[in-house]
Amino acid sequence: MKRFQRAAGAVVGSAVGDALGAPFEFGPQGAFSARFPAPGADGEMCGGGGWEAGEATDDTQMAVLVAESLLERGGLDLPDIFARFQRWAASEPKDIGLQTEDVLTNGMPWDLAAAIHFQVNQRAAGNGSLMRAATSAVHFASAGREATMDAAHRIAALTHGDRAAWEGTAIFHELIRLMFEDTDPLAALPDILALVRPDHRGRYATVLSPDWHPDQATEFNGAVWPCLGSAVWALRTTTSFEEAIRAAIDLGGDTDTVAAVTGGLAGAYYGLDAIPARWTQPLHVPLPGFGGRVLRLADLLHLAERLMEGPSMRRASQPA
Ligand SMILES: [Mg+2]
Repeated sequence: MKRFQRAAGAVVGSAVGDALGAPFEFGPQGAFSARFPAPGADGEMCGGGGWEAGEATDDTQMAVLVAESLLERGGLDLPDIFARFQRWAASEPKDIGLQTEDVLTNGMPWDLAAAIHFQVNQRAAGNGSLMRAATSAVHFASAGREATMDAAHRIAALTHGDRAAWEGTAIFHELIRLMFEDTDPLAALPDILALVRPDHRGRYATVLSPDWHPDQATEFNGAVWPCLGSAVWALRTTTSFEEAIRAAIDLGGDTDTVAAVTGGLAGAYYGLDAIPARWTQPLHVPLPGFGGRVLRLADLLHLAERLMEGPSMRRASQPA
């Protein structure tokens, strides 16, 4: 498959999952299928719960902020990403994770805010860094395994002090990178787990194992482990982009984020052309704090195209 299909599939797929899942957030299991029993029906981009039909939420908004920083700064500029997050958080986005909001508004510097929040609260393993990882995963895929997992750690650490969130985000990055190489991501999971820090490996091995089901989750799927596990489960147990997204939203709970993560993986796996046009057509991504801009499909495709060129050689060759 052409690289652009996978890059655009990941970026657009994640946004589509986010927008489709948002109206069902905190709802019961099976709500999507109950409302849309037959796949292929029109109107699935239904809006509701404060969201317009096709409107992407904080997951995609933050992914776009990361993307624009990477492209405009010519590489990973962590203080710049943090500043963009802060500007966005100060502009009253419709949705923002509790932990992310606290970190971005507590007045601490970029390299201390998340760590101090974690020290004080001891709970920072939400899915809020994983949810926004599609764009950075596309960007760093060409830089190799070490560089993409390292970038994932660093971007995650901007808002999440718990290493568990970094590791989950890095696994997502590596899954995308492997798909860009036309490697079967599911077959590669044991190799990826070997790259996870030993003290975090066990919990990821559990939720990523072939016989794990989201019903076995020990936390709400707003936590990073069941969120990633559920996305991989949705990819593993279905045979199309559309089915994977339906399965993810039908899990209930944090549906926009679980579907955004699923959409990133399934979009890279099946490619852009597998994403139904009736889902991409109404898709739009408002960017609070950035002059009322609203990105649409063409803008996301343009972002994906530039992101997949990867970090510039000059930056990539510098020690991190
Ligand atoms: Mg959201």
